[in-house]
Amino acid sequence: MTASATETRSSSEMFQRSEARTAHNYKPLPVVVAHAEGAWMTDVEGKRYLDLLAGYSALNFGHGHPDLLAAAHEQLDKLTLTSRAFVHDQFADFCAELGDLCGKELVLPMNTGAEAVETAIKVMRKWGYEVKGVTPGQAKIIVASGNFHGRTTTIVGFSDDPDARDGFGPFAPGFEMVPYGDLAAVEAAIDENTVGVLMEPIQGEGGVVLPPDGFLRGLRELCTRTDVLMAMDEIQAGLGRTGKTFASDHEDVVPDLYVLGKALGGGIVPVSAVVADKDVLGVLRPGQHGSTFGGNPLACAVGLAVVRMLATGEHQARATELGEILRERLEALVGHGVLAVRVRGLWAGVDIDPAVGTGREVCEALMARGVLAKDTHGSTIRLAPPLVIEADDLVWGLDQLAEVVRGG
Ligand SMILES: *Cc1c(COP(=O)(O)O)cnc(C)c1O
Repeated sequence: MTASATETRSSSEMFQRSEARTAHNYKPLPVVVAHAEGAWMTDVEGKRYLDLLAGYSALNFGHGHPDLLAAAHEQLDKLTLTSRAFVHDQFADFCAELGDLCGKELVLPMNTGAEAVETAIKVMRKWGYEVKGVTPGQAKIIVASGNFHGRTTTIVGFSDDPDARDGFGPFAPGFEMVPYGDLAAVEAAIDENTVGVLMEPIQGEGGVVLPPDGFLRGLRELCTRTDVLMAMDEIQAGLGRTGKTFASDHEDVVPDLYVLGKALGGGIVPVSAVVADKDVLGVLRPGQHGSTFGGNPLACAVGLAVVRMLATGEHQARATELGEILRERLEALVGHGVLAVRVRGLWAGVDIDPAVGTGREVCEALMARGVLAKDTHGSTIRLAPPLVIEADDLVWGLDQLAEVVRGG
């Protein structure tokens, strides 16, 4: 490398050049990552950082997991894209094994989470008209306050976050919002045109907000009783993060539609899916929905490797085990720079005492100590380490947080 090329690879120069040439729809921490392995990332200057965000759970299995890399490398040399106009040799196994993991008959693969959510909305509406007999054009879907389901115009139209929503209307009708976790409000909102309830089993973007105990089970019973589809957006909460395959499993609830994404792509390619039985997904017929890249061979090969890793239960067990460390350490901080914590598996929302600083300031202080985390909604920090993190590394990272919030 020449001297000038070395110079231009400084973090601050690359960070500034990035900011100068991209839309400012994110406010990244000023770190420029060049490579990563497991739970550790390395910046362009060789400084190492512990990753406590894991790509918002897209990296549940860590950076560069050998099984996932092997699956991707092998597929890359063989076949990467056919479009769904033809069938490829990775498709059947991916659909069958993901369906089995969910205990469902059919899988509809897409790419991003938002596309899977859009797919679930379309499927629930069509089911409503064709199976339930809802008046054409009148289908209603019930959603929760504080929700996050992605960034399309339809989806942000039923968000109550002004940043997500303001300036992007007009919005699609057909959604009604109720307070998250309020079963009576869901019941009151259900009418003869209601086709589905779409909610997160735990609100990740909202700050790892858990519904009251019994809510998901109550929602399941309510949906069954009123002939309404229950769609769980497990894009962030699912696939091992909470110590179970799905967050819904904590209340032994099986929704009618699983909406999956993020970790399904192993941190390598975007892979999302809607998983449901034939009586639901069967409403789609040729030409009614699709995606050029959805279910492509590379995505299916990586997704299949992810499903096989989850099928052993090993990562779920690890999330539970490490989650105990996370809970214990974080609970000790309440009253010492932290107002409240919410923990489920290896996933936590930490409400920072404003006296200590903003969530952003705490994340910047953590970064200086070699720990990467991200704030959400001003004063909350979300911790979602890769499930493969070493216990010692997790403890070290939490020690850094403790010192920052205690003003050490
Ligand atoms: C991230 C996320 C989405 C959107 O996924 P994208 O891949 O960013 O489109 C939807 N729902 C939940 C719960 C999410 O966390």
